[in-house]
Amino acid sequence: MKKIFIAAFGAETNSFSSMMTTMEHFEEDCLIRPSDRINKTIANDGHGEFIELAKAKKFEVVLGTMAYTMPSGPLTKATYELLRDEIIGQIKEALPVDFILLNLQGAMIAEDYDDCEGDFLEHIRAVVGQEIPLGGLLDPHAHVSQVMIDNATILLSYKEYPHTDFAESARKLFHLMEKVAQGDVKPEMTLFDCHSLGSFPTPNPPMRGFVDDYLLQGNEPNILDCSLIHSFPWGDCPDAGVKVLVTSDGDKNLGNKFAAHVGEKFIKIRQEATQKFTNISDAMDEIITSPEKPIVIADSSDNPGGGASGDATYLLREILSRKTSKAVFGIFWDSTAIKKIYAAGQGAILDISLGGKESQFSGSPVIMTVEVLGLAPHAGQIFGEGEDQRSLPVGNCAAVRYKGIDIIISDKRVQIFSPEIFIHFGLDLSTYDIIVVKSSNHFQASFKFISTKILYVMAPGILSMDFTNLPYKKIPRPIWPLDDI
Ligand SMILES: [Zn+2]
Repeated sequence: MKKIFIAAFGAETNSFSSMMTTMEHFEEDCLIRPSDRINKTIANDGHGEFIELAKAKKFEVVLGTMAYTMPSGPLTKATYELLRDEIIGQIKEALPVDFILLNLQGAMIAEDYDDCEGDFLEHIRAVVGQEIPLGGLLDPHAHVSQVMIDNATILLSYKEYPHTDFAESARKLFHLMEKVAQGDVKPEMTLFDCHSLGSFPTPNPPMRGFVDDYLLQGNEPNILDCSLIHSFPWGDCPDAGVKVLVTSDGDKNLGNKFAAHVGEKFIKIRQEATQKFTNISDAMDEIITSPEKPIVIADSSDNPGGGASGDATYLLREILSRKTSKAVFGIFWDSTAIKKIYAAGQGAILDISLGGKESQFSGSPVIMTVEVLGLAPHAGQIFGEGEDQRSLPVGNCAAVRYKGIDIIISDKRVQIFSPEIFIHFGLDLSTYDIIVVKSSNHFQASFKFISTKILYVMAPGILSMDFTNLPYKKIPRPIWPLDDI
């Protein structure tokens, strides 16, 4: 019987956020110790797949800590080292094992650590020696370093953005690691650096074809996996940038060639593949004149899923100034407003100061007299599709109405994935002109059924796509599109 060790340690660090990530952030989002009985779920819990597969195979499973948090600023040194050392201690105790599976996000930065995953894997390798296979599941928004490659046996990422295939990717990694442990394959990883930065959603051309042709292909002999690492453009670190990560079966030469081939294909399409944005004012002009309603607006620059606060008011102000449209917003993060609204109760009319509080990118608060449409304590939302679907917490929510605009507010900083929270409050999304979602891409999978028209709006904010104006200090240069290469 095989014995395996499973743990998770992930965060997607936004270097430009001043909100340092501490243990409290992990405790609030996902921190499951081996002794904890509560089975909490998180958005990309690839480790859940690992556990289920291992159980089905009747493997002996040693569970380590599962630590994951929503994107914020860098981890404090103490937080990173505490969780790293905790998992390493668990691995030491679990030895000997047949293999180790880690669910890593891959873009974690801490004080004094630009490459947390490299450091983490290097520490694990030092403890387990060269023989024990070490597999890591990555989000494509990872920064992959040579140190990570040198210390892991297989690293692979999800292929889709929105990440609808994390469970599938976890299964792929599990099966490959099983083969490694049996001596059936000898993985060799190789990296090709595309020297590029950006946001590249995969549902539409040309990314759709690229993913289908190069990342999901299954018939390339001796190529075990090909992952496109998009990198996280708001993570300012020396390993940032788009890379092709190829794992071959013992054929480094072939791996190098294939990675270069795929990388060059990506470079050819990167300009066209880059997500396009409209400014707020143009988006509003388009909505007012469009016969098609409702239109979904993605408020990408205030997406909590990328490290923003989720309380920016720029779009709300613009819509209020137009006075013409019926709009709905989800989800504003404002704990102070939620306290006041919950104290007043459903049906109450009260004054609140909404948003504009959490960061220099939040704009200013909007003072409004609202009617409380409803309260939803400990609300949830659906993420994922089919058998991979799960319910995730969205905190204590309330729906309020102000001048024909309905707004969902929560005391939890959370990205919206599905329309469930609107439905919970009895809001019929088909009756609005504008549906504003504080998300960049993950909302797409479920909102595409409500509106065929989606506008990606670039308001001022911490997730600005105007990379030329971000105060990078550490990313490798030259890099496209900042430099002419
Ligand atoms: Zn991601």
